[in-house]
Amino acid sequence: MHELGVVFRVAEDLKQVAEEHNLSSISKVTISLGEVSTVVPEYLQDCWKWARKRTPLLVETELFIEKIPAVTLCGDCGKSYETVKYAKKCPHCGSDHTWLIQGNEFLIKEIEVPEPEDECCGDGFKELV
Ligand SMILES: [Zn+2]
Repeated sequence: MHELGVVFRVAEDLKQVAEEHNLSSISKVTISLGEVSTVVPEYLQDCWKWARKRTPLLVETELFIEKIPAVTLCGDCGKSYETVKYAKKCPHCGSDHTWLIQGNEFLIKEIEVPEPEDECCGDGFKELV
């Protein structure tokens, strides 16, 4: 399953961040996922549930998926349009000289760590990525 491989990659990235910043747990990770990316959000959540049980660092980590709409740009008329609705053919001029400019993303957008018990440290670790 493709999504499982993706989850392992995310877990590896988070482990690395945790090591660099000396974190013992992560409360939430936000993934930016393009609308026409090959990753299926529902499968991703299922795989995440499976993987987090096996990774001490991630036991508490909620996965949040933020979808990025797909946009295609037409090379002939210079206008952009919704990829999912019209696919490769420009609805403005009928050209198929078009390319995807947004919507294929898969990236870790944000990581949140539990509130430190010691208040002196404040929000220091809230935005790591
Ligand atoms: Zn066009």
